[in-house]
Amino acid sequence: MFFKKKQRSNRELEVNPFYKDKNALVLYIKCDKCGEVFRSHLRIGYDFIINYDDRSAPFMIDKVYVGSKCPNKIEIKAKFTGSYKPVSIEIDGGKFISRETYEEEAEG
Ligand SMILES: [Zn+2]
Repeated sequence: MFFKKKQRSNRELEVNPFYKDKNALVLYIKCDKCGEVFRSHLRIGYDFIINYDDRSAPFMIDKVYVGSKCPNKIEIKAKFTGSYKPVSIEIDGGKFISRETYEEEAEG
């Protein structure tokens, strides 16, 4: 029997929408306006802002995404611990979706 990893629920995505992938955290996002789905790789060491003043959450992201189907801006801000665990996440203009949802919608 195979153990298939359970898809993350919306509640789990609110707490942690980031999927670890080698040296990156991967996000799957859906535009609130047109429903376009995105995948974003945030590379550890490149795409994170370092906040030296906050020892409990020294890594941050502050990103704006615009898709190809509409001009809606999706803004994401998040803070992370030193081991890249999210401690606060804000998203505006879109929502986080699971990897499985992304794969279904990107293919279909
Ligand atoms: Zn859109």
